[in-house]
Amino acid sequence: MEQLTNHIHHIRQQHSDDHLMVVFDIDGTILDMRYMVQNVLRAFDQEHHTRLFHQLTVDDITFHENQLEFFIKSLALEAWEKEHLQNWYLANRWTSRFVQSGHRAFPRILESIRWLKQQPDVEVGLNTGRPEHIREDTLKCLNALAADYDFSFSNDLLHMNPGDWEEQVVYHKVAGINYFQRKGYRVVTFIDNEPANLAAVAEYDASILLLHADTLYESDNRTLPQHSIRVRL
Ligand SMILES: [Mg+2]
Repeated sequence: MEQLTNHIHHIRQQHSDDHLMVVFDIDGTILDMRYMVQNVLRAFDQEHHTRLFHQLTVDDITFHENQLEFFIKSLALEAWEKEHLQNWYLANRWTSRFVQSGHRAFPRILESIRWLKQQPDVEVGLNTGRPEHIREDTLKCLNALAADYDFSFSNDLLHMNPGDWEEQVVYHKVAGINYFQRKGYRVVTFIDNEPANLAAVAEYDASILLLHADTLYESDNRTLPQHSIRVRL
């Protein structure tokens, strides 16, 4: 936070009239995805009258939300049960029910966003690989969380993937930065948990301060730009 504050003050001195923007990824950066996984698995139990996950804590969830199959392997279940669980998880996790209310934010991140939005001529943009068709649910979820901090996220400052899930996410992350720049913002900082996204943005615009949300991620951390700063959430 201190480095981010110093960076914003430094840029402000150089570009006093610019509209500055800090861009945040959502999943694994603002939202702690372990809660979504926990909620979906508990809902599985409820719906199936099972008790497979009643003792599952978020600390037990040490895998990325796209990699449940590795966790399922360790469960004492028949092959068909494992397959059913995996399919149920995939079919449910991004439905309105869980997108709107199954999520929690990392403890200090919303406080930081509120602080940024209070700074003169600084805005916060959201840049996510989530597809457009869950835009409304995404905003509902984030704004319910942000309401506790007395701010809201706006629809026009949310850039989403125009394609489907996992389609050219890295490409669309760069497109997201470009989208905000075309709206007239000087993007000063980008924070994301995926090293590959940070690497692509570093290549696109070397002037942007890159923060790596060191949570659970899928891409190769050897691609992490050397000048990115690690953030523990
Ligand atoms: Mg992410």
